[in-house]
Amino acid sequence: VKADATDNMVPSARSENMRRVRGKNTRPEMLVRSIAHRLGFRFRLHRSDLPGKPDLVFPKYRAVVFVNGCFWHGHDCRRGRRPSSNQAFWDAKLEENAARDRRAEESLRALGWRVLVLWECELRDEVELGARLDSFLRNAEGKDHE
Ligand SMILES: [Zn+2]
Repeated sequence: VKADATDNMVPSARSENMRRVRGKNTRPEMLVRSIAHRLGFRFRLHRSDLPGKPDLVFPKYRAVVFVNGCFWHGHDCRRGRRPSSNQAFWDAKLEENAARDRRAEESLRALGWRVLVLWECELRDEVELGARLDSFLRNAEGKDHE
């Protein structure tokens, strides 16, 4: 990717770029869905009327879950490491993504939703993931709730 690529993107390329940022039906997302389903929770997907279009929405629990890819959402982990070339471009791009995520979370909380962010790199242990999801949803005072 060229450093100035976004400025010259045609609309279809730009939307393709955005799709990758908040990718739908990604493998990590499918895993979280299948675990939530197995635990018996009812949820809806990508509700576009909510800020940030959360990946999973649990209306009964007034809770949403985002499943974030480490790279595109700027996780502080090995997978989230930025490329060493075109640094200015990636810094701007990924900081913009992270800022968008923060705004969506704040808006959701202001609307009374509880927010859990799951990172791609944290999904290796399905048992642990299930326990985390369960405690987040059932416990209104959950530790993931700021
Ligand atoms: Zn990560």
